[in-house]
Amino acid sequence: MTKLALVTGGSRGIGAATCLQLADIGCDILLSYRTDLEAANDVLAKCWTLGVRAKAVHADVSNPDDVKRLFAEADTMGTLGALINNAGIVGTKSRIDEMDFERMMHMFAVNTVGAFLCAGEAVKRMSTRYGGAGGVIVNVSSAAARITSPGEYVDYASSKAAMDCMTIGLSKEVADEGIRVNAVRPGLINTDIHASGGQPDRVERFRSLIPMQRGGEPEEIAATIVFMCSPASSYMTGAVIDVSGGR
Ligand code: NAP
Repeated sequence: MTKLALVTGGSRGIGAATCLQLADIGCDILLSYRTDLEAANDVLAKCWTLGVRAKAVHADVSNPDDVKRLFAEADTMGTLGALINNAGIVGTKSRIDEMDFERMMHMFAVNTVGAFLCAGEAVKRMSTRYGGAGGVIVNVSSAAARITSPGEYVDYASSKAAMDCMTIGLSKEVADEGIRVNAVRPGLINTDIHASGGQPDRVERFRSLIPMQRGGEPEEIAATIVFMCSPASSYMTGAVIDVSGGR
C-alpha cells in the first residue's frame, strides 16, 4: 500500500471520508482545500489521532500555480503513491440557455482542468518514465456523466464525462509506466455539495429514483477509492465504477 496519498478537496464530504479511511490503513495524507480551513483542520486532527502524518494546503485546483505549490508540498513529505482527484463543484439548477460564460468556464476549470493539472503533476512523480516508483490515480467522477442531468446542470455532467474519458485515455498512456488510473462514479451522496448548488434537499427529493431507495454516505464512496488505491485492485486500470445504489 502506498505511503503518501494526496486528496484534493479532502476537507469535507467524500474527500474527508477518503482521507480518514486512507489514514486508518497507515497512509500519510496531504489534503487540499479551497475555503474551509476549520474543516481541513478537523480532518488533520483525526488523521493525527490515527498515527499518520497529515498536512493541509490551501490550493485551488483550477489554478496552475496552486497545483504546483500543492505538489511541491507533497515532495517535502515523501514519495507520492496515490492521487485522489476529488475536488469538485456543482452549479445552481439551470438549463444550458440560462448559463453564462463565467459559470461554464469555472465548472470545467475546477472539475476537468483541475483534474488534468493534478494528474499531470502526479505522472511526473510516479511514472517509471521519469524514474518514479509507480502509483495510482483515482478520479472522482459522477453518475451524472451517464445520466447527463438535463434541466439541472448539463455543464457539471459534461465536466465529469470528460473526466471519465481522461481516466481511460490516461490509463492507457501510463499502463506500462507503473501507474493505474481508475474512476469512481458516485450517485446521490449525502454531502454539502447539494446545498452549495442551492438544493439542500436534493438527495431526499430524488430518493424514489434510486433502486436502493436511499442516498449513499461519503464513507461508501471512500471504501471504493481505498480499494482502487490498494494492491487488491492491482490488475484494474481504466475502470470507471458506478457506486450509486443501482441508479
Ligand atoms: P463537498 O462536500 O462540497 O466537498 C467538496 C470539496 O472540494 C471540499 O473539500 C472543497 O473545499 C473542495 N473544493 C471545491 N472546489 C475546490 C477547488 N476549486 N479547489 C480545491 N478544492 C476545492 O463535495 P462532495 O459531495 O464531497 O464531492 C466530492 C466529489 O464527489 C466532487 O468531485 C463531486 O463532483 C463528486 N460527486 C459527489 C456526489 C454527491 O452526491 N455528493 C455525487 C457524484 C459525484 P472547501 O471545503 O475548502 O470548500
